[in-house]
This record gives sequence, structure tokens and C-alpha cells, in this order.
Amino acid sequence: MLEGKTAVVTGASRGIGRAIALELAEQGAQVIINYNGSCENAGKVKQEIEAKGGKAETIPCNVGDFEQCAELIGGVIKTFGSIDILVNNAGITRDGLLMKMSEKDFDDVLAVNLKGAFNTMRAAARQMIKQRSGRIINMSSVVGICGNAGQVNYAASKAGVIGVTKSAAKELASRGITVNAVAPGFVETEMTAVLSDKVKEEAVRQIPLGRFGKPEDIAKTVAFLASEEAGYITGQVIQVDGGMAV
Ligand code: NAP
Repeated sequence: MLEGKTAVVTGASRGIGRAIALELAEQGAQVIINYNGSCENAGKVKQEIEAKGGKAETIPCNVGDFEQCAELIGGVIKTFGSIDILVNNAGITRDGLLMKMSEKDFDDVLAVNLKGAFNTMRAAARQMIKQRSGRIINMSSVVGICGNAGQVNYAASKAGVIGVTKSAAKELASRGITVNAVAPGFVETEMTAVLSDKVKEEAVRQIPLGRFGKPEDIAKTVAFLASEEAGYITGQVIQVDGGMAV
């Protein structure tokens, strides 16, 4: 259980991040729900948590912005006195074939998905080192492991997240901090809702467990990695993909 822990979940206004925020709160953590533009949705997640007797705050921050991340994490430490769990979940897609992808679409995806994780980890690491404890969980994707046509930007960002995770795990292990990545397959969220039925049917055929994942499938894994019981796991990439990328 996570009583007394302070957890920051980026991109927690909907989808996987929302499920993670709810799960961590259910297990007793005080949760900071980060969002970029969806203030109303973030407020609803806070209300859901509070309705179940949990504790939550909402804080806006564009994770692609280094200074904003320093303010986000600095504010959390000032207000709550610690940062015990950092979940870098915020992510975007700007899909397109390599030949047609704009430089902006490449840069924007890298800025949020990869640099965003660096920005918050950079800001949180000093405090976690002081505490001599911490849990960092970064959201990768099976696409970062296998690649995917139409997603060179997204695949690069999610492969990068794995590199950042493994490197930081080696740097921070001696201070009692674990750093792991979760690599979901297809999960039912707004991000995948835009896919055509044909693409979805084809995707399900590639999943041995025969269904898309649910946000809760990912949230349970994140909560385990955030727990005391996962204290001997670091630098790992846990695939939660129904066997898709085996
Ligand atoms: P989603 O439904 O599109 O939600 C994305 C979340 O990220 C929203 O809360 C959004 O908040 C936030 N966000 C976007 N840009 C941000 C920024 N610059 N700063 C702060 N927050 C930002 O996505 P999802 O499907 O839940 O995916 C969550 C994570 O899992 C992502 O990293 C994604 O790449 C990864 N993933 C998803 C799948 C899948 O099948 N769904 C598979 C593998 C990996 P605002 O609306 O406020 O911007």
C-alpha cells in the first residue's frame, strides 16, 4: 500500500494516466494530477478520487517545457515535503509516413514523450536522492520496441524513453531509487479511438490474448512498480501488451 506517499502522474486528465492516478490514490497515495490543457477533465479525476476518500490535487504543466517541469516538481516538494513516485505518462502522437512527416511533428512528439520524461526526472532526482528513496515509472510502448509504420517520431520517443530509463536506473540505484518503464500494447483510450475499425481488427489479430488492453491493466502494473514489493526491480521494461510483442 502507498499511504503517506506523494505521487505525481503526468497526463492524468484521461486515459491511462487517469487510471494510474485512481489506482495510486486507491492504494493510499496523495496524487498530483498533471495535465496540459484539459483542466475540466483533470478536475473530474480529482473529484473521483476525493469521492472515494482519497487525496488529490491538479497542477497544469506542459511537460515539454523544462522550466514548467521544474516549477511543477518544485511546487510539489514545497507543498507536500516529498516526491515519492513520479509517473511520466503524458504522451502525444502525430502520425505520418516518414516521407511526409513534418519537422514540427517529429520535434513535438519528441519534446513531450521523451524530453518531458527527462524534464521531470531532472527536477525530481535531487529530492529523491536526498530522501534516499523514490520510484520513477516511465511510459514507453511496444512501438518503442518493435517500431511501427507511420510512427517514426513516436517510436523514436518511446525507444528513447527506454534508454533514459535504463541509464537513470544505473545512476540512481545506489540511492534507493528505482526507475522502470512500462510498454503497453494497444490500450482503449482516446489515443487509439481514432484508429479505423480495420486497423483495430488487424491489431486484435496480432494480440495473443485477443483483446485491447484497458487503462486499468496498465495502472495495476504501474502501482506494483511503485510499491515497496517492487524494490528489487530497476532498469526494466515491463510489456503489458497481451503478448503482442513476444
Ligand atoms: P491520451 O488518452 O491521449 O491522454 C494523454 C494524456 O497526456 C492527457 O491527459 C493529456 O492531457 C496529456 N498530455 C498531452 N500532452 C501533454 C503535455 N505537453 N504536458 C502534459 N500533459 C500532456 O493517451 P493514453 O492513451 O492514455 O496514453 C498515455 C500514455 O501511454 C502515453 O505516453 C502513450 O504514448 C502511452 N501509450 C498508450 C498506448 C495506447 O494504446 N493508448 C499504447 C502504448 C503507450 P491534456 O489533454 O491536458 O493535454
